[in-house]
Amino acid sequence: MLYGGIFIAIWVLDDDSVAERRLEEEMHDASPPVIEMRGGDTMTLAVGDMLEDPGIDVYDESPTPRVEIESNVDISREGEYYTRYVAIDENGNTTNVERKIKVVRPAGRIYLTFDDGPSEYTSKLLDVLDKYGVKASFFVTGGGDDALIKREYEGGHTVGLHTMTHNYSYIYANLDNYWSDLGAVQDRVKRITGEPASIMRFPGGSSNLISAVYDDGNRIMSTLAREVEQRGYKYFDWNIDSNDAGGAGSADEVYSNVVNGLRNGGEFVILQHDVKAFSVDAVERIVQYGLQNGFVFSRLKSNSFNAHHVVNN
Ligand SMILES: [Zn+2]
Repeated sequence: MLYGGIFIAIWVLDDDSVAERRLEEEMHDASPPVIEMRGGDTMTLAVGDMLEDPGIDVYDESPTPRVEIESNVDISREGEYYTRYVAIDENGNTTNVERKIKVVRPAGRIYLTFDDGPSEYTSKLLDVLDKYGVKASFFVTGGGDDALIKREYEGGHTVGLHTMTHNYSYIYANLDNYWSDLGAVQDRVKRITGEPASIMRFPGGSSNLISAVYDDGNRIMSTLAREVEQRGYKYFDWNIDSNDAGGAGSADEVYSNVVNGLRNGGEFVILQHDVKAFSVDAVERIVQYGLQNGFVFSRLKSNSFNAHHVVNN
């Protein structure tokens, strides 16, 4: 009993002193700001690329911590560089973090693209991309959480359009249906990111023949391929199909289909779907293979290599 009593007394005292110390710290704001880096703490870029910094989030007790950014990156020369972010709160408490930036002469360029999401697997995919500082592109639909599209955008990835419903029999029945469906997913993206998407991918790709089943002989893909560009969009197909929506049923097959298509000196737009768990499971190995073999990974932009297919309908 005696020992028990002493034990309790000490425990209570100790707890009080911790609480007191915390209160004191709060009054003097002794705790430095917390910095979370968006898009991971490393990046590998090709010589001559544009340095796009996804930025940081800063958390602090003081309302207006100041942020200073210092960088020694020379994108015209190979090398290992850094961007350093320093956050200083009103009481002078300071935190600094660094993003490592490698500039290389690449063996080739890989554009990872993920269609049909976001989904319950997208968050894990974004964790993997952040781990390696790799930027990708997402052709989104009406599915999944808004927060995932926001995270894609804030992580420095490209958010592109794929259509709201992805319902072939509706979107390819006529032009009005297609445009209203594309408009709906554009409205979604704009609402979430604050910015309209400028790139898109046709469900089934521009070469699809499924549209011919529904378009009443109007060769709708030929019209759409022309009109999307007239409306200011750029459309993207692919030149390596992971086949995750076809014959591939495992991460191993997705991995092989992707890396077997890579050649030195090329640009590769890879088709995957982030609604498929096994396909997402292959991404870390694909990224490791690409980086180890001297490739850089880039997000798609309007002027990127587009890997257009031949339009068949
Ligand atoms: Zn699709």
